[in-house]
Formats: sequence, structure tokens, C-alpha cells
Amino acid sequence: MNEDCALCNGLWREYAKATTEHVRLLREEESPGWDLARFRKLESEIDVAAGVRARARIAIKIHLSKDHGEGVRSVASAQPD
Ligand SMILES: [Zn+2]
Repeated sequence: MNEDCALCNGLWREYAKATTEHVRLLREEESPGWDLARFRKLESEIDVAAGVRARARIAIKIHLSKDHGEGVRSVASAQPD
């Protein structure tokens, strides 16, 4: 990553935010006292959060490859978590 690049900084912030949200939901799922309706709602929220996180990560890889010439091969093999 390039610390002087505004796009890098923005993408990393988005990824950090998505990761925080994903982890928060996973912790909530583990917390006691859930009922089935809440669990189902959490599961779909976790799916969405995982997708957002994976896309943010891929966006970073694509940007690094395209604009900074880094990690070209890893973009092709980029996998969501
Ligand atoms: Zn950049």
C-alpha cells in the first residue's frame, strides 16, 4: 500500500470498517440469549458483511495491481474469505 495515495487510504478504511462490522456480528452470534428469529437475521447480516469485506479486499488488490503495479498474480487468484 502507498500511504500517500488517497484511494489506498480510502479503500483500507472501507476494508477496516467492513472487517470490524463482520467481527462484531460474529461475536454477537456467539453471545448467549439468541432466539431463532434473531439468529436467522444475524446469519443473513453476517453473509452480507462477509461479502462486503471480501469485495473491499478485492478492490484493494485490483487498485494495487492497476495503479501501483503490485500483486498482479494475486488478483487473478483473489478469493473471498
Ligand atoms: Zn493507491
